Amino acid sequence: MTDLLVRAVRPVPLDRDAPGGTSGSQPLDILIRGGQVAAVGTDLPDAGVPELRGEGRWVVPGLWDQHVHMVQWALVRSRLDVSGTNGVEQVVDRVRAALDTTESPGPDHALTAPLIGWGHRTAGWARQPTVADLDAVSPRRPVVLISGDGHHGWLNSSALRLLDCPPREGVVSENEWFDAYDRLGSLPGAADQAEAAVLEAITAARAQGVVGIVDLEFSPAWDLWPARMAARGPFRVRTGVYASRLGEITARGWATGDPLPGTDGWARMGALKIISDGSLNTRTAWCCDPYADSEDLADPHGLPNFTQDELTQLVGTAHAHGLETALHAIGDRAVRQALDVFRATGATGSVEHAQLVAPGDVPHWAGLPVRASIQPAHLIDDRAATEHCWPDRTRNAFAYRPLLEAGIPLTLGSDAPVAPLDPWLAMAAAVWRGPAGGAAWHPELSLTPGEALAASVDGRRLTVGEPGDLVLLNQDPYAEGGLPGAAPEPLRAAEQARVLREMTVEATVIGGHLVHGG
Ligand SMILES: [Zn+2]
Repeated sequence: MTDLLVRAVRPVPLDRDAPGGTSGSQPLDILIRGGQVAAVGTDLPDAGVPELRGEGRWVVPGLWDQHVHMVQWALVRSRLDVSGTNGVEQVVDRVRAALDTTESPGPDHALTAPLIGWGHRTAGWARQPTVADLDAVSPRRPVVLISGDGHHGWLNSSALRLLDCPPREGVVSENEWFDAYDRLGSLPGAADQAEAAVLEAITAARAQGVVGIVDLEFSPAWDLWPARMAARGPFRVRTGVYASRLGEITARGWATGDPLPGTDGWARMGALKIISDGSLNTRTAWCCDPYADSEDLADPHGLPNFTQDELTQLVGTAHAHGLETALHAIGDRAVRQALDVFRATGATGSVEHAQLVAPGDVPHWAGLPVRASIQPAHLIDDRAATEHCWPDRTRNAFAYRPLLEAGIPLTLGSDAPVAPLDPWLAMAAAVWRGPAGGAAWHPELSLTPGEALAASVDGRRLTVGEPGDLVLLNQDPYAEGGLPGAAPEPLRAAEQARVLREMTVEATVIGGHLVHGG
């Protein structure tokens, strides 16, 4: 925790009755002492602390991504991107360029550490990939290219040897590939590479204005964050625990909000994470009504992963130990069950995803201390699947506006790596429910820029006593309208979303520490 005086910044209003406008408002100074906002005013006196010159830029509280799988995201962003390629030659060109920039004659491990790429889709290619294609460009360093659907690996000969796969002409696929992929993750140095990738991902997140994440990594991350904090400095984290390891956390006596040892309080215990149903794309999300194309499904409604008794037991145990629950529920029947369990146990927490919510359940939800943790970028990716599987109920899908209007607290996130860890992309998708340049989907369900921004700051405001976390913006997020309290403007939403999507961050401050820009 430290001190900083931020000069001449224009606070972006986040509440309906917030004083001041936007572009015309008077620049203010913000003094952070001991990591907290200590004073806000015009022309604050010299405080004998470092100063950051805002020069009239806009300022918001630090942004949070409330649903991240940090190691998975870090690995994806560290891999060579071979997506969007139309054939063998395009992929090989990208591999050659990557080898040119990373391969050095240095220590042996630089040659044996595989170059890992991800994202090619071979359907429709003029010819299928071969081992020889990659051997020609990389005779020594192993090259492993993971297909976009994850079902095959395209390897060169040295990678085949490294992963114990017999020689062949073509790719390694299905079960043989899944086994090889496992070995890839347990190669010597793989864990170190993953940790190095996490540090890079932290730096990249801060550059987007992100001061904190909820880390729902599947492997236990709570023992890894101290070393990450030591290496990269301040970054706020709430780390989740899955049911299979809940006993380890209760044995340590950690409740939600408790600081993790060795992190100076930057990392704290988060929630018990439970995945209570499946997903839309696998048609396993648990729904009140059958999937439209359910003839071939063993479970036409999808299915729950736990009985209500099992869930009540788990959530009740967590609650008794002071832990919140983050309850993954995608189908409307799963959401209803989640709400029933929260009500029965008195637990607090969040419903994660809530991709389909029956309108009749919204009033019940509004009375519970349960947030809606939503990932708006998914509505762009999942639009076709939603129209295919749930054509009769698309108005209840990704239906953020009715939740907001019922008074249910919304928190935005990415579920990275499912969508990029980019809060501006999430906000833009909530405002303009479609791709840039494309059509919006159910625009009546969209949020305004002010509502999306307010759902991205972990409930914080830049007032005295709040954490000294802030972000300087080079643009007014309401340049095209969308102030808090203003009604949605469907005709301007595309422009409002563009402002958010193209936002650049000048500086990010966490607890008074300048961690990006400045
Ligand atoms: Zn997730």
